[in-house]
Amino acid sequence: MTQPSVTGNVTCLGCGCACDDIEVVVASERIVDARNACQLGRQWFGDGQVPSIIRVDGADVGLEQAVGSAATRLCEAARPLVYLAPGLSCEAQREAVAVADLLRARLDSITSATALIGILAGQEHGSASATLGELRNRADVLLFWGVDLEARYPRFASRYAPGPPGMFTPEGRRSRTVIAVDIERATATVDSDVRVAIEAADELAMLTALEACVRSPDASNNLTSLAERSRNTARELATALLAARYTALVYDAEPDDRSVRTSARFEALTSLGQALNDRTRCAALALRAGGNRSGADSVLVAQTGYPCAIDFARGFPRYVPHDGTVLDILRDRDVDAALVVGDPMGISSDLAHSLSNVRSVVIGPHASDAAWGARGVIIDTGIDGIHVSGTALRTDDVPLPLRATLSAPRSTAETIRAVASNVRRTLLNAHDIESKALGS
Ligand code: SF4
Repeated sequence: MTQPSVTGNVTCLGCGCACDDIEVVVASERIVDARNACQLGRQWFGDGQVPSIIRVDGADVGLEQAVGSAATRLCEAARPLVYLAPGLSCEAQREAVAVADLLRARLDSITSATALIGILAGQEHGSASATLGELRNRADVLLFWGVDLEARYPRFASRYAPGPPGMFTPEGRRSRTVIAVDIERATATVDSDVRVAIEAADELAMLTALEACVRSPDASNNLTSLAERSRNTARELATALLAARYTALVYDAEPDDRSVRTSARFEALTSLGQALNDRTRCAALALRAGGNRSGADSVLVAQTGYPCAIDFARGFPRYVPHDGTVLDILRDRDVDAALVVGDPMGISSDLAHSLSNVRSVVIGPHASDAAWGARGVIIDTGIDGIHVSGTALRTDDVPLPLRATLSAPRSTAETIRAVASNVRRTLLNAHDIESKALGS
């Protein structure tokens, strides 16, 4: 065994917190420790071992041949799809957008199946947010709305709030009031000063009542359709929130098996944040899961104007979030070839099943583990953040560097760039042939 080497300030993509204080210990080309990481983070780092398989239709081939086959198949498709799975650096995401643009493809990411309803609520109502650093330094009242911090964002409380001291919260936890709202089984797993339990069926009514009480102290008298107990709860919560110098409203943007997440719920949470902002400062923070999902949204916005659900079919990007999910268009057979970029293990089993019905190209870490892609083109790559350096965005859209601690034979970004250049060449050749045919 070789002498272990330690790399500090490594960013973890195990959840959207993107902790950048991880010390990764490597010995004999394996990760043997990820100091400071929580259990979820340790799982994400694993031992750093990834498969390195390149196959076309089940046969092992060289990289050049696989890239050429991928480009040919995608160019032959009438309605191609480019899908961004989790686990990509912003650099790799950018290359995938370029391929979608060249192919006039449908472009989507895991966001459309997870956080889209919250994003639409923000687009329609506006959303006042803040960085996690601002929460840490300023938030003196925190309202955690049914979010499972312990299981999903394990270091949020100790790194950002309510645990650590900040510029205007010098005593850390003791400088803050923490309110936890449990929505039936969806417990807000955080150490709290006040805990409120509400029925799932009453969640929307409670949010609406709370917003009304924030907007007008007398509103609770008019909320006659609510039980007296709920009215009192709404009034007391509003009073506590309005007593803050700086409130933080923290909820989960991702689906949660413990409760139903509707558009109306996200709209009500967004409106509550806006109402609080009229009376005090409030930052609403919708937490995202791991794999640089916020990065995908931002890259897509930067390059197309929209965060997901984009269609290039007309030669320019159109936002089609209400035209059906990727799952719907695959079921309707409105896609005849798919390029999936990123870790295919991060996509849902429904989507994986639907993808098995179209010609597929899978490029990313663990691509060869996707059984549904076995009959297409498969190119395994290193993991961005473990084998490949780059950039990722934290859940609050703060960019952080990804540091490679192990080597890998190829990166996703450079492989996609090679596919893009093959696609460009194929399309130019086709255009030349067409021009000559028209001229003759
Ligand atoms: S809290 Fe999230 S980002 Fe931080 S170490 Fe745990 S999994 Fe990684």
